[in-house]
Amino acid sequence: VDESVREDMNKLEDTFPGISDRFRLVNRIGEGTFSTVYKAEDLLYDHHHNDWDIFGEAQQQETWASPPSKRRRVDGEPGRCKQARFVALKKIYVTSSPIRIQNELELLHDLRGCRSVCPLITAFRFQDQVVAVLPYFPHTDFRIQYRTFMVADMRHYLRSLLVALHSVHEHEILHRDIKPTNFLYNPDLKEGVLVDFGLAEPHIVQLLFKEPPIWRTISRLPKNDSRPSRRANRAGTRGFRAPEVLFKCTSQTTKIDMWSVGVILLTLLGRRFPFFNSADDIDAMIEMSSIFGTRRMKTAAAMHGQIFETNIPTIGEKGYSWEKLVKWSSCVEDLTESEQQATRLLSGLMELDPSKRLSAEEALQHEFFTNPIH
Ligand code: ADP
Ligand code: MG
Repeated sequence: VDESVREDMNKLEDTFPGISDRFRLVNRIGEGTFSTVYKAEDLLYDHHHNDWDIFGEAQQQETWASPPSKRRRVDGEPGRCKQARFVALKKIYVTSSPIRIQNELELLHDLRGCRSVCPLITAFRFQDQVVAVLPYFPHTDFRIQYRTFMVADMRHYLRSLLVALHSVHEHEILHRDIKPTNFLYNPDLKEGVLVDFGLAEPHIVQLLFKEPPIWRTISRLPKNDSRPSRRANRAGTRGFRAPEVLFKCTSQTTKIDMWSVGVILLTLLGRRFPFFNSADDIDAMIEMSSIFGTRRMKTAAAMHGQIFETNIPTIGEKGYSWEKLVKWSSCVEDLTESEQQATRLLSGLMELDPSKRLSAEEALQHEFFTNPIH
């Protein structure tokens, strides 16, 4: 481990009294805007007695306040570690609002037991610092694996991701940040786990805050429009934002996650990562228009009470088919039958109209999964 990482881990051990009695920090595995994630060995895990009932009530209510030695164990004995058990410690930055942190932990708690969703073992707080404890899931970096993926690998990857999203959406939760770094895929297991519910939100909250759409007339826009500009949740990652997010739709649904799944599939089929590389929402709209053409973009904009206009000469009226785009992007002359089948799924996911876009449940019923061409 690099010196600066070691220092950072020592700092965490110093800020949380007692943390080193329970965890041995091994490495730093992730650093993002809202958190740092460490791999650690759980020193209290007793494989033999299997007392780590991660979904049990005792575990959920455990607090860090009592020192580990005083905490009740299932077998009543201080345990010996028979087999190393690794966890991911997600230190959530203090700059993250308490509501946001609580939201993430609560949603993870609601989703416990859902297949392909990373469970929350426990969480602890010391002053303004919060650490979530998750089972460590070995996975391969997407940037390394995407180029080597055969269609069969794409099928396993997507099935696992869709199974996760199906449960998340069944719980009426939007993940909002579906992208490769938030889906930890293990090619040996052919399974992945969905992580990072930092931007996720219960669908119901959205409905409560839903504002009536502002309909704008096409021909007569007032010169001095004093109305406040429309605000819509645009949380997420550039390149993965659905068209309705760009069009500031105020009633976004779970279909925004499905668009992002489509972007991942496009990356895999097109063998380009990142596929979209816009700096801002306007650029993103230009990228999208280059694919869909102005006619379909105007229709999509109108669906959300917006107007789409462009004078960029390279953006055509008609756009291109997904098959053509996948061929261009991956530099191949022809697609195999299995690639064509995957491309048909792609067009169902990257559908501009959210009401026509496939849901996770529908996508799992697609011929790509039910009747695969090998
Ligand atoms: P952030 O909000 O900072 O993006 P994430 O929850 O996405 O935090 O975690 C950041 C990174 O840490 C992930 O992309 C992944 O590489 C690693 N990570 C997170 N959870 C786990 C886990 N349970 N097992 C293994 N690695 C993990
Ligand atoms: Mg993340």
